[in-house]
Amino acid sequence: MVRFDYHTHSNYSDGYFIPGMVRAAEAAGLDGIGFADHCNVTADGEARRRLDGLGFALDETYPRRREGIEWVRTETDLAVYDAVEMDYVPGREADIASFLDEAAFDYAVGSVHSVEGDDVQWSENFVHLDDDERRAVVDGYYDNLAALAESELFEIAAHADLVERTPELRGYSTAEQYEQVADAFADADTVPEINAGRVLDDYGEFHPAPDLLDTLLDRGVEFVVGSDSHRPEEVGRRIDALERRFDELAIEPTTLSV
Ligand SMILES: [Zn+2]
Ligand SMILES: [Zn+2]
Repeated sequence: MVRFDYHTHSNYSDGYFIPGMVRAAEAAGLDGIGFADHCNVTADGEARRRLDGLGFALDETYPRRREGIEWVRTETDLAVYDAVEMDYVPGREADIASFLDEAAFDYAVGSVHSVEGDDVQWSENFVHLDDDERRAVVDGYYDNLAALAESELFEIAAHADLVERTPELRGYSTAEQYEQVADAFADADTVPEINAGRVLDDYGEFHPAPDLLDTLLDRGVEFVVGSDSHRPEEVGRRIDALERRFDELAIEPTTLSV
């Protein structure tokens, strides 16, 4: 039974207005929705300017969003969580920890979105690479993901095999990388999610895909639900898809104590 969606976005990053998302969560029959807007406290120079161009400024705007969430809580019976999707960059744990400490979100979702500065979702970063180079990027991705789990900075780890959604990087993941990541999560308090961000789109698969999922399940790892919805119309159909997925796997989603 899917009751809590811990991973959605609002217009404090690249999603829709908070009240509309909450209405959609009510219509989907959820008991709670978490706003995990994008946040990066490690980018500088060109990378920071690119984020500024997108308007990703939660490190500055979270107090204002918090006021908005407090208001929307008076308008709904649902639990509404004040969360964050934080870019994890190995080596920058101290900066991330001090920001998370200061901001005191209800929980933090950690994401590996890039390898050595290249966003793994952008095909144009990889289209010119040969097989060995693509394999190295994917290897770097799983190293970063294992380091994320070991960092213990986050309650949730987002979209555990994000590289698989990118056609240029798809199919390079190996059983060894799955074992590496599953070992890291088996020992960590950080819980991965089953993420529906691309299951109803071009990619057509949940994160993690079946082989990584099985490896994690073998280690006794549990999963929270993350629809990764950015628009109200995505919430209901992704929650339905997640409901069917958990049923198929005959497992229950786990919940955070927040
Ligand atoms: Zn993400
Ligand atoms: Zn997201």
